[in-house]
Amino acid sequence: MSKQILSQSSPSSIHEKIEQAHNLLETCGSLLIEDPHIHALLRKLRDCIENTNQSMVTLGVVAECKNCEEREGGSCCGSGIENKYEAVLLLINLLLGVSLENKKSSANSCYFLGKKGCTLTARHVLCVNYICQKLQKKLTREELIALQTCAGEELDTLFILHEAIKKYIRTHQT
Ligand code: SF4
Ligand code: SF4
Repeated sequence: MSKQILSQSSPSSIHEKIEQAHNLLETCGSLLIEDPHIHALLRKLRDCIENTNQSMVTLGVVAECKNCEEREGGSCCGSGIENKYEAVLLLINLLLGVSLENKKSSANSCYFLGKKGCTLTARHVLCVNYICQKLQKKLTREELIALQTCAGEELDTLFILHEAIKKYIRTHQT
């Protein structure tokens, strides 16, 4: 691995971060996937995300968000939230098979909001943890705890994977 990608000054725009994520994928993507620890974490993260998504469907969160998008003037995924995303989190999405090409549905929306909702698989803690006022009123205490438990497991796994990938890249940079 020849490029000092992570030690370069941080890119500022989402386009630069996406480019950096693609560079990381090119230089070390296959090595990361072959690493047993990272491979296992990627599988665990996928399962956790699926679990969270299933809870969101079961508890009616997905239907509420769809209603916002289609009938109430748009979802809360506003422009600028994409700037919270850093290259390694975007790399994790690439490793999970996500395309980072622009599917932005409107000028006022987050770069990653497509016509059918968020186009990312691994989302930032702000996105995973966000529960709007409407949902807080709609869901029972038990439902909120169930949702937060799934989200917590997803975020714990994402954090461990994120740190493992950063460590791997630093260790293998020449
Ligand atoms: S989180 Fe709340 S405000 Fe945002 S799209 Fe879903 S229901 Fe609407
Ligand atoms: S959930 Fe996805 S589309 Fe919504 S703000 Fe977060 S990254 Fe953007």
